[in-house]
Amino acid sequence: MSSKLFVLSSVAGGGKSTLIRLVREKHPQIAFSVSCTTRPPRPGDEEGVTYFFLTPEAFERGIRENEFLEWAKVHDHYYGTPRKYVEECLAGGRSVIMDLDVQGAALLKGKLGNTVVTIFILPPSEEEWERRLRARGTDSEESIMKRIRNGKQELSRRNEFDHVILNDDLDRTLSQLESILLSSEKH
Ligand code: 5GP
Repeated sequence: MSSKLFVLSSVAGGGKSTLIRLVREKHPQIAFSVSCTTRPPRPGDEEGVTYFFLTPEAFERGIRENEFLEWAKVHDHYYGTPRKYVEECLAGGRSVIMDLDVQGAALLKGKLGNTVVTIFILPPSEEEWERRLRARGTDSEESIMKRIRNGKQELSRRNEFDHVILNDDLDRTLSQLESILLSSEKH
């Protein structure tokens, strides 16, 4: 069994965080790469569990010292994958799930080829997606509008992914995701 890097991307409000939480609970043998970010914590965030929260200075030092496997600026904040944990998992034969934006997914696919399996979670419709984004109640209107603009660009790149899963029913979406994770793990 060879270890893989599974990259999950979506638009903000696409339902990806819920899916990742369920997969982490059900399949603890697959490691989860906790990213670093300079965005402020939101309700529900937990240091070291959802993200490592860094100052811009600390993040920029990490870039200079090559500590990130990849990094990107998303919605005005830095986000990056700590290199060491992912490399240790792969060396130990353990697969890793990563939650990345579309730029990070494309970059890693280009860099690591078939070691990376990219999966795009597609919201059921634009109306439903906007409704979910507003229902979170954690973002300002300005930030919601920015996420919608960025999201439309991200949606247009979904064909670059190895798999696209329509998230119209949580149970069905989860089982489709599990079948990709578990079948790819066996190869
Ligand atoms: P949020 O602030 O809503 O948690 O995440 C915003 C976006 O940043 C999401 O699209 C998420 O997938 C992406 N993201 C989170 N961590 C990383 C990372 O380490 N690298 C990249 N490229 N994107 C990330």
